[in-house]
Amino acid sequence: MRGLFIKTYGCQANVYDSERMRDVLAPLGYAPVEAPEAADLVILNTCHIREKATEKVFSELGRLKELKQATGGAMRIAVAGCVAQAEGEEIMRRQPAVDMVVGPQAYHRLPEMIARLSRQTGDALDVDFAAEEKFDALPTSRELSGPSAFLAVQEGCDKFCTFCVVPYTRGAEFSRSADAIMAEARELASKGAKEIVLIGQNVNAWHGAAPASQHGGGAWRLGDLIRCVARLGFARIRYTTSHPRDMGDDLIAAHADNPKLMPYLHLPVQSGSDTVLEAMNRQHTGDDYRRLVERIRKSRPDIAMTSDFIVGFPGESDTDFDATMQLVRDIGYATAFSFKYSKRPGTPASTMRKQVAEDVKAARLDALQKLLLSQQYAFDDSQIGKIMPVLFEKVAREEGQIMGRTPYLQPVHVKTDAALIGQVASVKIEKRTANSLHGVLA
Ligand code: SAM
Ligand code: SF4
Repeated sequence: MRGLFIKTYGCQANVYDSERMRDVLAPLGYAPVEAPEAADLVILNTCHIREKATEKVFSELGRLKELKQATGGAMRIAVAGCVAQAEGEEIMRRQPAVDMVVGPQAYHRLPEMIARLSRQTGDALDVDFAAEEKFDALPTSRELSGPSAFLAVQEGCDKFCTFCVVPYTRGAEFSRSADAIMAEARELASKGAKEIVLIGQNVNAWHGAAPASQHGGGAWRLGDLIRCVARLGFARIRYTTSHPRDMGDDLIAAHADNPKLMPYLHLPVQSGSDTVLEAMNRQHTGDDYRRLVERIRKSRPDIAMTSDFIVGFPGESDTDFDATMQLVRDIGYATAFSFKYSKRPGTPASTMRKQVAEDVKAARLDALQKLLLSQQYAFDDSQIGKIMPVLFEKVAREEGQIMGRTPYLQPVHVKTDAALIGQVASVKIEKRTANSLHGVLA
């Protein structure tokens, strides 16, 4: 047995990729260990989305270098993910302790790279770009890390929002075939997964031919795929992340028709100002988004909305920022992510004039986060006294408690038997603390 330690940064796509790297390396005798100190191979699966995320990787590599020296150089270090894709050779140059650099579409070739490394021949950098080949080459077996499992249905992006590196690091939009997705979903169901989360940078842009087994055939959209996955026996289905432009009628209807599809939608809007949205190349206005949410809520009135926001995009004025605050008040979010705009090399926004000063960005982020947090607390508080279905995921830090999630992804802590982990049970919500709900079995 050889020890494998993977540290994952960033989005759900990376979480999925890390699990798949573990599956790819299992036949070589690599088994997960809890800490890098016990590992023969350490992989940093990195994120390039904001500058901070990239910096973290280089400081972690500094720490790993010392660890590697302590092992007499036996420990191998690989950098995977989007920083690998964007800064491959730079990583090798800046940190010679790194043995391998592998991009997000090339990690299925890790076993080959490891073999080459042990023979001290060939290239230790692979940032090729063929998502299709990767998915075909990945093993069909999947190990679960809990009752909820990610399944990548779509990769890459052709939207080219002017702030974003994803189209450059993950490549062009690619939808996996419905047959391949259904095969992986069946594997996850047979291993006992209770929840399946269909993931993609633009998951709702997924499209493909109907599986061969489906009568009628034809072209499928995400709503069709969800209906098909729902028949496999999962208790819960989710999908993330969606773009407002791709929120089609079929998907909106799936929320009305399908009780297994959780009433929770992550639909990033980024800004409430039409001027900023246009400069971002989002291809929708604030009112387009409001109307869309209205249609979604008509289809599924109890749906909870979440979003991503960027403050301080180049040229964002006080009036633009006020429009974002107004949109947040109009929509009412269950929770949301918000970030200061971060310049990414190679993206159009990074060279735009009128970059916003750091202190202005910080003040806007603070105001936005206060508003979003007040909405989150109001939403969480509205569950107190209710009986909610909770899917229990793991043992909680506090002794005797286990942690699960409501349909709205809210964490819930309950004092009960760990045997309930992996099950959905009814919980009476009693109170809220800063980061969690607490309740008793109903
Ligand atoms: N595809 C999704 C969408 O269209 O909204 C999101 C992809 S991205 C991995 C996740 C979030 O990171 C974005 O929604 C955006 O809010 C944020 N983000 C992306 N680029 C950024 C940048 N340059 N500065 C700050 N935040 C950024
Ligand atoms: Fe990035 Fe825009 Fe594509 Fe989302 S839609 S991944 S924000 S370019």
